[in-house]
Amino acid sequence: MKPAPFQYERPKTIEGVLAVLNQYGEDSKILAGGQSLIAMMNTRALQPRVVIDINRVPALDTLAVEDDTLVIGALVRHSEVAGSPIVREANPLIAEAYPHLAHRPIRNRGTLVGNLAHADPASEMPAVMVVGEAVMTLRNHDNLRTVHAEDFFLGPFETAARPDELLTEIRIPVAPQEQGWGFREFSPRKGDFALASVATVMSVVDGKIASVRLACAGIGPCACRLADAEGILAGATPGEEAFAAAAAAAVATIDPQEDFHADAAYRRDLVGTLMRRALADAHGRCAA
Ligand SMILES: Cc1cc2nc3c(=O)[nH]c(=O)nc-3n(C[C@H](O)[C@H](O)[C@H](O)COP(=O)(O)OP(=O)(O)OC[C@H]3O[C@@H](n4cnc5c(N)ncnc54)[C@H](O)[C@@H]3O)c2cc1C
Repeated sequence: MKPAPFQYERPKTIEGVLAVLNQYGEDSKILAGGQSLIAMMNTRALQPRVVIDINRVPALDTLAVEDDTLVIGALVRHSEVAGSPIVREANPLIAEAYPHLAHRPIRNRGTLVGNLAHADPASEMPAVMVVGEAVMTLRNHDNLRTVHAEDFFLGPFETAARPDELLTEIRIPVAPQEQGWGFREFSPRKGDFALASVATVMSVVDGKIASVRLACAGIGPCACRLADAEGILAGATPGEEAFAAAAAAAVATIDPQEDFHADAAYRRDLVGTLMRRALADAHGRCAA
């Protein structure tokens, strides 16, 4: 199928993009890498009146560390993020998760910011951003505001971004050197969306878990933080016993969806196993 007819706009500045968004609001859609938008337009799941191509806006291609914050602009492709030494140094969890995301041609065109704006419930990166305490920068014609990743993902393909807002960049605090990280997922075929995935970061001080953050994706309407499991781990001695207790707590609180890929019991079991493994990875990477 081909998309329904649409008007095509290609501004060269952020202000130009915001002006078109201001004019057309929910009748318009931003085009970044097009890896999700075009598929949805082809099936007519989306029929925007106006498509706003941001690919000619140079101000959106920042990938840098500024004041202990990793900044990734709206036009930075998945491949660039995945292969960046800056990203690997500043936030190794992002680099760890990337090999699971899609296939090379899709990573070459698709953008990380577009991926987050799309908010697929099975996507890896929202969970990574929740764990990494990322902050989204949203701009419209009159305003700039920021939203924490934890508050950004509201449901399947639904975010806190308003129809007239452009997600210009994400800002992620540089991870402390002593922090360990882990990302595990299971998908039936490499590059497919995951049936479940778990992301975590952990710091250990004097043999006890000083801080830990955990999130999972693929099991509900959007990526979610696993606060009960974090509570069990805080102050505990890291190891199989604590990780199993945390996994049991997480499994008791989640309410996984059922679909033709997997039933709820299978997804619960997956989350428990993936979480124990991700926590063990993070513990093994904590600086001694
Ligand atoms: C075969 C296949 C397999 C895939 N597998 C995976 C996978 O395993 N894991 C995974 O996470 N993803 C996967 N994807 C999706 C891929 O990661 C997409 O690149 C990503 O979802 C969208 O990024 P994009 O830049 O192409 O955005 P686009 O397709 O251009 O846009 C996606 C949506 O976000 C909006 N948008 C884009 N940028 C902005 C912005 N700056 N501000 C506001 N709104 C914006 C658009 O209007 C649109 O609604 C897969 C895709 C395909 C086709």
